[in-house]
Amino acid sequence: MKCPKCNSDMWDNRAKKQSGQFKPNAPDHTCKKCKHSVWLPKEEPQAPQEPTKPQPKSSNRSYALSYAKDLAVAGQIPVNEILDKAEQFDKYLNGMDLQELFVENFEGEAI
Ligand SMILES: [Zn+2]
Repeated sequence: MKCPKCNSDMWDNRAKKQSGQFKPNAPDHTCKKCKHSVWLPKEEPQAPQEPTKPQPKSSNRSYALSYAKDLAVAGQIPVNEILDKAEQFDKYLNGMDLQELFVENFEGEAI
């Protein structure tokens, strides 16, 4: 890269910033001649190879599933309801109202 001020060659500091040799806030490029410093626009975090899929729910889903399995193991629900129950918990974990979940699950049952 050429210096925008004097058109001389510039040092490329990016590798050294990454290795920790330079501070993270050091300029990305420094002019070899006039010491003009350039910060490049912040790069996006390393783009994943695949197109981005929404993933934040996956941990909730596995949590919901293991929770439902626990219920089945404890005899609280029939084994064939594990998936349904997991789905409900997943919805809850993704912001469903707790009261709503409670009513759905326990209304009409003797508590
Ligand atoms: Zn320069």
